[in-house]
Amino acid sequence: MKREKFSNFLVALEDCPPLRDRVSAVLLSLPEEVQQDFLDDPAFRIDLEDIAPGRGSRTFLALPISCASVSRSVVLRRKLATSSEAFAHYIIAHELAHAFLRNGGWQEIVDREEAADALALTWGYPRPGTDYARIGMPGAK
Ligand SMILES: [Zn+2]
Repeated sequence: MKREKFSNFLVALEDCPPLRDRVSAVLLSLPEEVQQDFLDDPAFRIDLEDIAPGRGSRTFLALPISCASVSRSVVLRRKLATSSEAFAHYIIAHELAHAFLRNGGWQEIVDREEAADALALTWGYPRPGTDYARIGMPGAK
């Protein structure tokens, strides 16, 4: 299975197999250039949100490789393992879009959230319940 290609990104999700499989499915569906962008970045990682009552949450970030680079981290909530598949896939794609865009805009879209949604849509992951034809998002079919 091609999943091994992304095994380094899925390590943190090993104790939550349903979520690991959902993230794997989304990663494998992404355009080659997007997959390669993540694979080529040693400072890119995917983590499970780590929250404990009274302690708060913690996130691990890879150290940037050089002053010119940034480390990218996608942190996912455990509940994405049990929410509807369409919703979970959309959230995962949206977060990966933020990472691919280095939390910036996309094409003519300046707003980061709209940019991540628009890019995720072109990857086949629409925001559930959104009427794209009505709001005229790029990439809408
Ligand atoms: Zn977002």
